[in-house]
Amino acid sequence: MAVRATPGYECAMRAYVGVGTNLGSRWAWLALAARGLRATPGVALVRGSRVWDSAPLGPPQPRYLNAVLELETGLPPRALLSALKAVERLAGRRRDVRWGARTLDLDLLLLGDQIVVERGLTVPHRELGARRFALQPLAELCGERVVPGTGRSVSELLAAAPAWELREVGAYPV
Ligand code: ADP
Ligand code: MG
Repeated sequence: MAVRATPGYECAMRAYVGVGTNLGSRWAWLALAARGLRATPGVALVRGSRVWDSAPLGPPQPRYLNAVLELETGLPPRALLSALKAVERLAGRRRDVRWGARTLDLDLLLLGDQIVVERGLTVPHRELGARRFALQPLAELCGERVVPGTGRSVSELLAAAPAWELREVGAYPV
């Protein structure tokens, strides 16, 4: 993936977005996530991780594809979350069952060194340390990065994370 400049956005930060999909054309939803974020004003798509096929979390449902997209953005956290939700809606995402099956789930895992704890938005993502299916692709992109508030790197969190059944299945479709 090519880096696209974001003129007018100062103090741009690296953001890492967890992508999950387990309904319908999972590979097509991954591609749509990349397209949707590329088309988002104030966001530059830097690269994607490898894609992992993983066991589902929550109620019985199909297996997931999981990956992480690296962005550069000057958008504030709320605006970035809104942009992620807009791309989820492009994939026809409906919110009903908690942790239920979904065409596309975009979670803001990290946003620079920021810590955000607000109603409806927690960054770093609240469950990051417990989710190997998010940490594994994240470590590929930024294993050395210290996760704000934990004092530990992504790779260290990955080493300590609970076991999870997942296997690498290919490159991110761009
Ligand atoms: P989940 O991803 O936990 O399976 P949802 O995607 O439905 O569930 O998200 C539920 C809510 O979590 C969203 O409406 C959003 O406001 C909130 N949320 C809090 N922190 C984050 C974050 N870092 N990234 C994405 N959503 C978040
Ligand atoms: Mg989500």
